Amino acid sequence: MKLFMHWDMEGVSGIFNRQQVWFWEEGVSPETAEEGRQLLIADVNSAVRAALDAGVDELIVCDTHHGGGNIILGRMIADPRVTYLEKSRGYENGQLRWMPGLNGTVDGFMVPGHHAMAGTRNAFLPHTWSLEWADFRINGQSVGEMGIEACFAGHWDIPVMLMQGDEAACREGRAQFPGIVTAAVKRAQSRDLCAGPDPESARRLTAERVAEAVERLRAGGCAPFAPSLPMTVTIKMASVELAETAAAKPGVERVDELTVAGHVERRCDVVKWINGTGLP
Ligand SMILES: [Zn+2]
Repeated sequence: MKLFMHWDMEGVSGIFNRQQVWFWEEGVSPETAEEGRQLLIADVNSAVRAALDAGVDELIVCDTHHGGGNIILGRMIADPRVTYLEKSRGYENGQLRWMPGLNGTVDGFMVPGHHAMAGTRNAFLPHTWSLEWADFRINGQSVGEMGIEACFAGHWDIPVMLMQGDEAACREGRAQFPGIVTAAVKRAQSRDLCAGPDPESARRLTAERVAEAVERLRAGGCAPFAPSLPMTVTIKMASVELAETAAAKPGVERVDELTVAGHVERRCDVVKWINGTGLP
C-alpha cells in the first residue's frame, strides 16, 4: 500500500491562533512562527508513525502550506519507506509539476492539517487557496482546498481517506468525500482563534484515525473524488478588479461581475486553467 499525505498547517493540532500559522503577516515574532512549525513537525511525525505502524509500504509526505518549506528534514522520522517533499511543486522526470510522485501507483490520498473553504461560518481561517477567491466551484459544487487537491488526485481515481482539521473542515470533508475518516482536533472560537485538546491528545486521536483510514481503504470503503468530465470550474473573485485580471488570461471566460470560468477535460487541470498549477 502506497499513500500520499498532503499536509497543510491551519488544521494542525495545538495551532490555536492566526500568528502561529500565517507567520508571514506583519508583526509576528520568530518565536511564534517557530512554535507553529514545531507543532506541524510533531503532527507529521506522529501521523507518519501511525501510517507505518498500520502496515503502509510506501508513504509520500508533502508540505503544502504557503507552498511548503515548513518541515525540516533533520527533524522528521527517517525511514526508507517515507519520502518527504518540502514543497508542493517539484520535479518528476525533469518536469516541474504539482505533487510529484502522485500518480497511478498511489493507493490513497490524505489531507491532514487542512481548513474549511472560503466563506465557511464558525471555521478557523477558512479560505480557498488565496484570499482573492471567494467561492471555487467544480460543476456547480463549492469546494475548498481539500476538494481541489482531491480532484487533482481524482485524475488517477485515488480514494480520499483522511482529513484532519477543525470541526468545520471535518464537516466539509465528510460532506464531500463518502467514506473519509476525519480527526477534529479543534473548534473555531472566531475566524482567527480556536480551542481544542492539548496537542498530544489531538495527535493520539489523529494517529487512531490514520490507522482506521488505512483499514477502511483496505476494505474498499474509501472513494475517489471524481466530478464528471468535462468539468466547468468557476471562481467568484473577491473584487471586480481581480475578476478583470483573471478574465484577461487565455481560456478564461467572464461569467458575471465577479465570476470567471474555465472548462477542462481532465481532473488534474482543476486549477491549471487559472494559475498554471498541475501537470505539465
Ligand atoms: Zn495553509
